[in-house]
Amino acid sequence: MQGDEINRVANIKVIDTGIGIPEHEWENLFKPFMQIDSSLNRHHEGTGLGLSLVYKLVELHGGSVSIKSEVGKGSTFTVSLPWQESDKVPIISEDDYTTPVKKDIKVRNKGAVVLVAEDNEANIVIVESGLTAYGYKVIITRDGGEAIERAHETLPAIILMDIQMPGMDGFEATKQIRADANKQLAKTPIIALTALAMPGDKERCLAAGANVYLSKPVNIKRLVAEIERLLA
Ligand code: MN
Repeated sequence: MQGDEINRVANIKVIDTGIGIPEHEWENLFKPFMQIDSSLNRHHEGTGLGLSLVYKLVELHGGSVSIKSEVGKGSTFTVSLPWQESDKVPIISEDDYTTPVKKDIKVRNKGAVVLVAEDNEANIVIVESGLTAYGYKVIITRDGGEAIERAHETLPAIILMDIQMPGMDGFEATKQIRADANKQLAKTPIIALTALAMPGDKERCLAAGANVYLSKPVNIKRLVAEIERLLA
């Protein structure tokens, strides 16, 4: 990246060592359905739409695409996009992608019961299959009320709590689990999961009684690492 405070430009270069493009063809490159070799038995596949789409999208963002190429040596395409600092405060959560997760996670709690409260079927499949593969016993519930009920029945080792759910949401369910008079679930770790990372969400989750807050899409390895850390 380069430039001053006002006009910043991010340059993204794609460099290949392909056949190269003669200079007189450069201006045709960004036209739809245009290929350097348009014969039907050509060796290089593709619809000829990629570059024209890139060009259109970049143009809509106020940027530009440029090319440098040498026949027989290869080409360099540069996408230049203007950018500016946002005044919005970024949401940093525990699953911030910069935090490394160990490649091989030692699962010491195989067979541990993980109660999942999640209303999205796609997420249910991902979390259930992912955690089952690591050896946990997974119980699925689809709203806050069902989660509380099943938590009392099964006394899980840990609870994964989606925040946005129909009926009772994850904030309320977490609060009720923590407020339980029998105190059976008072110390059960709760991992709050939310796709809508709004400012203050993390604090609200933790204030409701969750131990950890993770934003979705959830990375299964990160999740397993957190489960193992909380069960240690
Ligand atoms: Mn949800």
